[in-house]
Amino acid sequence: MHHMTLAEIARGLADKKFSSEELTKVLLARIAQLNPQINSFISVTEELALSQAKAADARRANGESGALLGAPIAHKDLFCTQGIRTSCGSKMLDNFKAPYDATVVAKLAAAGAVTLGKTNMDEFAMGSANESSYYGPVKNPWNLEHVPGGSSGGSAAAVAARLLPAATATDTGGSIRQPAAFTNLTGLKPTYGRVSRWGMIAYASSLDQGGPLARTAEDCAILLQGMAGFDPNDSTSIDEPVPDYSASLSGSLQGLRIGVPKEYFSAGLDPRIAELVHNSVKELEKLGAVVKQISLPNMQHAIPAYYVIAPAEASSNLSRFDGVRFGYRCENPENLIDLYKRSRGEGFGAEVQRRIMVGAYALSAGYYDAYYLKAQKIRRLVKNDFMAAFNEVDIILGPTTPNPAWKLGAKNSDPVAEYLEDVYTITANLAGLPGLSMPAGFIDGLPVGVQLLAPYFQEGRLLNVAHQYQLNTDWHTRTPTGF
Ligand code: GLN
Repeated sequence: MHHMTLAEIARGLADKKFSSEELTKVLLARIAQLNPQINSFISVTEELALSQAKAADARRANGESGALLGAPIAHKDLFCTQGIRTSCGSKMLDNFKAPYDATVVAKLAAAGAVTLGKTNMDEFAMGSANESSYYGPVKNPWNLEHVPGGSSGGSAAAVAARLLPAATATDTGGSIRQPAAFTNLTGLKPTYGRVSRWGMIAYASSLDQGGPLARTAEDCAILLQGMAGFDPNDSTSIDEPVPDYSASLSGSLQGLRIGVPKEYFSAGLDPRIAELVHNSVKELEKLGAVVKQISLPNMQHAIPAYYVIAPAEASSNLSRFDGVRFGYRCENPENLIDLYKRSRGEGFGAEVQRRIMVGAYALSAGYYDAYYLKAQKIRRLVKNDFMAAFNEVDIILGPTTPNPAWKLGAKNSDPVAEYLEDVYTITANLAGLPGLSMPAGFIDGLPVGVQLLAPYFQEGRLLNVAHQYQLNTDWHTRTPTGF
């Protein structure tokens, strides 16, 4: 049962082959049995899951239908869940039970999804390896000595290990697409503003975006359908109608113009990944697509710009964690300043403290123009590159990551080495564009992803291209041994 995709589960439930309650019990048992190997959950919400599953079964018995009605999922542990710990992977919020549901959580619950738990993540979503979590690192089901990617490593590892068919995640600089690539999943970062950020604990508000992680593009379409839409509670949410994403999966690729940026194939890219990317291009050409070389000349400036903007916004967003209003408070503070200092010093881990310091520095009066303002200007140049490219092509294709998943601990002593791994993903966040990573092969038993980028609100196009690719390849069907 645990091998089924969301689409297969929806058909099985509709045909009364099994109930949501039966399926939920099977998956909860699997989580209990296998999760200790990969550490992908921070909380398992067994009681909630069983009551939601029973309620979904009752709704179906009353004639209701829907692809998510009774479908088991989990939420990255930065989506607020009412009355349930919402830790953001941090000691700071270890004791925090959210007083309300995030919009994404509420929408999926209303559609009948069953929440199995809250998934592990890098602390405050800062990282690319899921090693900065207060709850310990997540292991990659494809090789337990390797990282699953981050920051949504828990969601990715859980889905890859067939503990559940799909999960929510968030992407500030690649945290949906990069773990998808490292664990052989399909992951979609929607257009900025497509999915509400209300109740999603903020890292860098102008970059953060929620989206689906699943095994197939078809399943990403189903989960995105439940997540997307205008939300008056989020002032950056966009009031555009949500298309039927599953209906977008039938388009022909005949004549589709694919742009491959020449800057993607620089010295930093593992040549074996370059080869797999070229293979995926050939596959799409067979389906009728036309390939063209393009250029994104400002790409080289994106990492330095991102690692100014994201920490700057983080330093501001994380100022609310002061030991007074939320979460962790130090023991026996001597005075108010001591309370602030020790609560933050003890509650935040090393990477979070590093980002707060970098951000506060970049925003400080004497340096604002030199760093923050300059980074914002680069951000505009990056966006302009994409706008020019999309005048010529319909999608942009390239590697999701320069290397496959590295060994646990390999980059712990060198944060910049880890930042450099985000080179292909962060530009979409800087520009606010939608991006998808799909399975495209293996290197030494570790999965490799190919990234597709499209113009604003063309999530349907990304999902269709990935779906057509998946109808003609079988990378996405491979299962890690032992799971
Ligand atoms: N690795 C990037 C960072 O650490 C992106 C993380 C994310 O997308 N949440 O900031």
